[in-house]
Amino acid sequence: MTTRKEKKHTRDLHQQRESRIARLVEAGRIKSAAEIPEDALPAALELQTPQGTWSPPLFYRDISFHCKDCGKHEVWSATQQRWYYEIAKGPVQATAKRCGACRKKHKEETLRQRELLRLHREKKAAGKTMGTKEKMRK
Ligand SMILES: [Zn+2]
Repeated sequence: MTTRKEKKHTRDLHQQRESRIARLVEAGRIKSAAEIPEDALPAALELQTPQGTWSPPLFYRDISFHCKDCGKHEVWSATQQRWYYEIAKGPVQATAKRCGACRKKHKEETLRQRELLRLHREKKAAGKTMGTKEKMRK
């Protein structure tokens, strides 16, 4: 059974698609709605973060890829891409490279490395100050 709310949601999505396509045509990015595949989500370029001369994605469509760390097959869905580029403001040239588990692991590792680097810099800075004092004493 379809509730009234679900019907409204489908209608909203359809309207959103229409208005996004209209904006792409207006911007001269596409000539007609036929250039956006039926199973793809049209992009809102004004919400993306432009990266120099890199061509922005005009629509989002499920992408399947293999995780660069563990080789697992994953799908980066059209809705995830829209969220990444338009809400999280990810750079337009970036694409998914890791599966969920490896992405989490990689993020934790990056944070750990950054923390180690910070501690290292602090130690070095403290060492320098001490060194100057030593010289002054002589
Ligand atoms: Zn993985």
